[in-house]
Amino acid sequence: MTGASEFVVQGWCPGALRPMLSGDGLVVRIRPDAGRLTRTQAAGIAKAARTHGNGLIDLSSRGNVQVRGVTQASHPGLIEDLRALDLIDADAATEARRAIMVTPFADATTSSLARRLAAELTQGPVLPGKFGFAVDTGPAPVLQAVSADIRLERCAAGGLILRCDGVPLGTPVTPQDAAQRAVDLAHWFVAAGGVTAGRGRMAALIARGVRPEQADTAPAPPPSAYGPGLHPMGALVGFEFGQIQAETLAALAALGNVRVTPWRMLLIEGLTALPDRPDLIVAVDDPRRRVIACTGAPGCLQAHAPVRPLARRLADQVPLGKTLHVTGCAKGCAHPGAADITLVATAKGFDRIRQGSAQDLPEAAGLAAAEIESEGLFR
Ligand code: SF4
Repeated sequence: MTGASEFVVQGWCPGALRPMLSGDGLVVRIRPDAGRLTRTQAAGIAKAARTHGNGLIDLSSRGNVQVRGVTQASHPGLIEDLRALDLIDADAATEARRAIMVTPFADATTSSLARRLAAELTQGPVLPGKFGFAVDTGPAPVLQAVSADIRLERCAAGGLILRCDGVPLGTPVTPQDAAQRAVDLAHWFVAAGGVTAGRGRMAALIARGVRPEQADTAPAPPPSAYGPGLHPMGALVGFEFGQIQAETLAALAALGNVRVTPWRMLLIEGLTALPDRPDLIVAVDDPRRRVIACTGAPGCLQAHAPVRPLARRLADQVPLGKTLHVTGCAKGCAHPGAADITLVATAKGFDRIRQGSAQDLPEAAGLAAAEIESEGLFR
């Protein structure tokens, strides 16, 4: 078993038992079982984040919850508290295998399927660190824009299908065999040569022309859009830059059980009215939804500059329907895709990219933050 004192400095997706060192201490990533936290678990994370971390909690784009500012000395106590809440796997290897994202609009069948898949994966193949599964079997698929390699979805007729990322069609499966078939597909991925030097993604293998068994069933069409607000299952609320203060999480936990989404929002089950707090994003047109910013300096060791204060000041300049991405380095962790404008911090100032991602060629380089603000972003 891997103990709480095993630390990875950089280059890993952090887990709880293998945290990653960042500029403000260790980042401890919790993978909620089937994407759900009971009120007790959510309140317990809030308390543990205050006690053992710096009180800041991030929501990841893979539906995980990250406690920040943990120290090597406080990590064992955090793990002990999280284990008492049933949020810690038996060991780091089991934790790493349970890379499953679950639709926040899960019904009982979906939750049970996610748990069966987690159990089957303990005997599954060793997969690359970024490889993941999506159990997207709510009324309609909502995770198709979210990174995953093997997907369980529903077809238009309501039945379950198993689909490889990169292939538009899937294969019908049943609630009884779906989990095992997903693990079989992972074995196929490895046997077909999908892993090279410990890395590999399903879509890349498919792009090389390698295909599993014949797939013939399309997933149900996804909904046109969804955002913060009231939903049949409760209230979906967002947070500036996907970061929550421990006090906010504690207040939300008092309202109901929590579902974690890959959109850096939380669904509070059973609410029929929106919680009234200024630190929550509850409106689709809130300007804070138009800006994306990573941790930046000083929280990230790779960052060339602080980015969130600048993003916050620029939010009102971003028109409805447009997006601004401000990133502390060209890695672009917070938003790998394109944005209308991307500002990349470098050693010489900010690079500005239009209609591209953080790694694309800039149209202007070495800009000062004050210059960007006074020029106006979307003139
Ligand atoms: S994009 Fe760069 S600066 Fe921002 S969190 Fe990722 S590594 Fe750190």
